[in-house]
Amino acid sequence: MESLTFYKDGILSGDRRILAKAITLIESRLADHRERGRLLLEELLPHTGRAVRLGITGVPGVGKSTFIESFGMQLIDMGYKLAVLAVDPSSRRSGGSILADKTRMEQLCKAEQAFIRPSPSGGTLGGVARMTRETLLLCEAAGFQVVIVETVGVGQNETAVAGMVDFFLLLMITGAGDDLQGIKKGILELADAVVINKADGDNLIKAENARKELASVLHLMQPSTLTWTVPVLTCSALTRSGLKGVWQAVQDYHRRMTASGELEAKRRNQALEWMWSLVEEGLKDRFHRHPAIRSRLDRTVARVRQGDLGPATAARELLFLLDNP
Ligand code: GDP
Repeated sequence: MESLTFYKDGILSGDRRILAKAITLIESRLADHRERGRLLLEELLPHTGRAVRLGITGVPGVGKSTFIESFGMQLIDMGYKLAVLAVDPSSRRSGGSILADKTRMEQLCKAEQAFIRPSPSGGTLGGVARMTRETLLLCEAAGFQVVIVETVGVGQNETAVAGMVDFFLLLMITGAGDDLQGIKKGILELADAVVINKADGDNLIKAENARKELASVLHLMQPSTLTWTVPVLTCSALTRSGLKGVWQAVQDYHRRMTASGELEAKRRNQALEWMWSLVEEGLKDRFHRHPAIRSRLDRTVARVRQGDLGPATAARELLFLLDNP
């Protein structure tokens, strides 16, 4: 097995093959691989933090892949190196994810300056989010200046991604009926920018109207910081119009939030929340692997289900076993 120095030097020199190998350590189910991954991350920590971390969400069909392809190629034209990751725990396909279908990002996949990694497959949102977050740090250490994390707009994925990026972009399209229908307010609250895609052809006026409508809705919402007003923009991932404006917004945000110290604070808070979620995951893991608990659990669950034992007493008894084997 290769030494940690092999991985560290390889990643710091931007070797994509070694970067990919290191990611497989992090994604491994083997405890000693993951431990090596953790040690490697610790070594690389001083070399992380230099990328713009950008989250992108939107319901299927909104144009995420097309947007990332066009936006990514624009960034490459500007001289940036970018990594594209994904969080998609619902995917059960082997190695599968929204990004697995590489034909959807044909140009980016071929580009030297882009590194594309599909969502780790199979597992809980917590596990997938951990792997993606750690992969993000590896990509930063490998010199990628922009890291995009894509997720599908369902359930809790957004919250997990918003917790690992600097800037969270909500991609939308205008619907046939009420444009605001179907956006969950919680997701709108996470967004640092809302971008209405497919503003082209016959759809141009509708997209512009939706933009105005959304801007007035957002205007009524309590801003999370006085430093930043969430913009509503339009673009076409197909014709590539409006994409420069999106990048402008991301850069504006970075500039202002860095100057005010809020970006640093945000990242530190994210790191702390991350620590807590790992502690919780670790505790759960210890609980379920504890021999005395394992031998007792089925019976306790059955008794609670039958109403023979109260939930509070059951929990107390099980937790007691954790400390008193
Ligand atoms: P995803 O499921 O969110 O990743 O969406 P895709 O990127 O796969 O796009 C879904 C469909 O919308 C595809 O047929 C795209 O060609 C189309 N599409 C994406 N962006 C645009 C756009 O800006 N304008 C138009 N007219 N179609 C688009």
